[in-house]
Amino acid sequence: MGALQQESNFGALYGEQHRCPHCQALAQAQPDAALRWKCGVCGGPRVPQGVALGEEGMLALRGAHAAKGSAQVLRFVSWTLGLAAAATFAVAALAAFASPIAGGVVVAVAVALAVASARASRSASSARKRVVAGVEHAWENAIAEYVQHAPTSVTAAQVASALNMSDAQAEASLTTLAVHDRTRVDVGDDAQVRYGATTAQEIPQEISEGESEEQALRRRGES
Ligand SMILES: [Zn+2]
Repeated sequence: MGALQQESNFGALYGEQHRCPHCQALAQAQPDAALRWKCGVCGGPRVPQGVALGEEGMLALRGAHAAKGSAQVLRFVSWTLGLAAAATFAVAALAAFASPIAGGVVVAVAVALAVASARASRSASSARKRVVAGVEHAWENAIAEYVQHAPTSVTAAQVASALNMSDAQAEASLTTLAVHDRTRVDVGDDAQVRYGATTAQEIPQEISEGESEEQALRRRGES
């Protein structure tokens, strides 16, 4: 059986949820310390099967993947320039024996290379920060999607278990979403903090037969 045939069978069995948004390969997402989840083929940031990101979340994930590529290139450039600077400093020491002027010129070149290396290193570190921010933003959108479509309001622990993340990660993202009015925060009778959809999507729990959702809401408001 050819690789293409195998891939199409895999796609038919598991659906398009396994398709990587970066390399388009049908591959399961794997847990990763830095990216939370990554593609087994291209190493790009992913979310596991069953987690919906929405359009904004998908854009954030693609941005994180692009930043990851930039960070790798810039790190390589920084290393190469750093090694070139070190080699040029060594040449400058030898050149200074022959002529102090030649030595000075070579030192100036070495300093310029070292400065360029440091700059590339700083850019690489800011690209790495963009990767973390992009992944975080993608997951915030995944949580917003989940809360928005949940039939009732949910706790941080419920979100964490549904989306395969730690309670602390879920809580941090839910707080950010609440600050930006993307989730509604309620404190229940049990003193538990719950997060709900911002639009009135919740279906009233005790809806009588023949009664519209609006009537049920009004009735509940009166009682
Ligand atoms: Zn991929």
